[in-house]
Amino acid sequence: MPDKSPPISLDIKNLNMNSNDPQMLSQITKALYANNFELETERSRIQNILVNVSEIIFAVDQDFKITIFNKRAEEVFGKSHEEAVGRFASSYVKVADDETKKELAPPDYTFRDKQIYIPRVKILAKGHEGEYYRLSSSFIEAEDKSRKEAVIILSNITAEVELDKQKDEFISIASHELKTPISIVSNNLWMFKHVSKKKFSKREDRFLGEMEEGLGRLQKIVNNLLDISRIEHGTLTLNLETINIYEEFLKTADNFKESAESKNLDLIIPTNKKKIEAIAQVDKERYIESLENFIGNAIKYTAQGKITLKFEDQSDSYKISIIDTGPGIPSKDYPKIFTKFGRASEGLKLDGATSGNSTGLGLYITKNYINSMNGEAGFDSKIGEGTTFWFTIPKMKKA
Ligand code: ADP
Repeated sequence: MPDKSPPISLDIKNLNMNSNDPQMLSQITKALYANNFELETERSRIQNILVNVSEIIFAVDQDFKITIFNKRAEEVFGKSHEEAVGRFASSYVKVADDETKKELAPPDYTFRDKQIYIPRVKILAKGHEGEYYRLSSSFIEAEDKSRKEAVIILSNITAEVELDKQKDEFISIASHELKTPISIVSNNLWMFKHVSKKKFSKREDRFLGEMEEGLGRLQKIVNNLLDISRIEHGTLTLNLETINIYEEFLKTADNFKESAESKNLDLIIPTNKKKIEAIAQVDKERYIESLENFIGNAIKYTAQGKITLKFEDQSDSYKISIIDTGPGIPSKDYPKIFTKFGRASEGLKLDGATSGNSTGLGLYITKNYINSMNGEAGFDSKIGEGTTFWFTIPKMKKA
């Protein structure tokens, strides 16, 4: 039976190791035993936690050799802890990014950053084909930076993904069904206004105008929903045009002056004296929509301060930044922001924003639009200071 007596403290420095004093030796043995017992208890507690969680947990050292391999990892990858520890993770842990469909090597998901999230990965192991996992990894480093170890957690999100698929299907069917009645109303309204010889009073004219505006908004929502299904099915097609994207940027920004003013926010739009010849090939409607989404969000989520818009001419692309003085986005929410239905945590989301008009779809669509125009989108954020969303549009290649 282990000795339950409290650990004995030893003054190691003043120990006479050559001592033949049996009392001293017994004291040393007791102390070592007690220390060992404590370590053993702690080790089995940690082991128990690792065994009983439903997540796959493993760790690698800086040579990407496995140092921890929990029970769930053993079950899924079909190798025991003893077999796996000390071996290269690349030969035992086979995962692929579900977005790019590419197999991931350990450097893809470890040490690149303090925290790495990959929203959807698949495990390349027999019997797990229909499952989806979320990968998160973080690393710890010895104080003198001589050693580091990354811990990787794979959480099963198959149920969430299935639910997401059902939502997609619903969106797709509902938006297709809505398209026909909307175009019937829209066509008839146009006929009523333009073909009938009727002279409308000012009041009637206002009613008709409001109907047209509401219908326009409804059409835009339905088109967005249809675009989501196209994105999901990889069938989004663009109407590319060659335009001056700086001009469209200024026009779009101008349209937000009123809504910024109504919230007492300063909207700072560049006032370059020299006209920028920013000629690029874009889907004009979707480019404008992307801008509207970023600027609209900045206004929506900022309670006070200013929104600064920037347009930069870079070597291969134009970069547009939307800088706000809003609440900022908590780092744990970063992976969600550009995903479908992704919204930041409740407290911050509602700071200065109206919860009713938040769907978590805007940035998902926007990023897809920008990526399909060969641009990139991203953001930097600091809690309490604000967020900068940015995106790039590649320059036209000179012939
Ligand atoms: P929505 O605004 O409809 O929720 P979006 O896809 O446009 O959807 O945005 C996703 C989420 O990103 C928002 O719910 C919000 O939590 C966060 N977000 C977007 N823009 C900002 C911003 N400028 N400042 C802080 N949070 C933002």
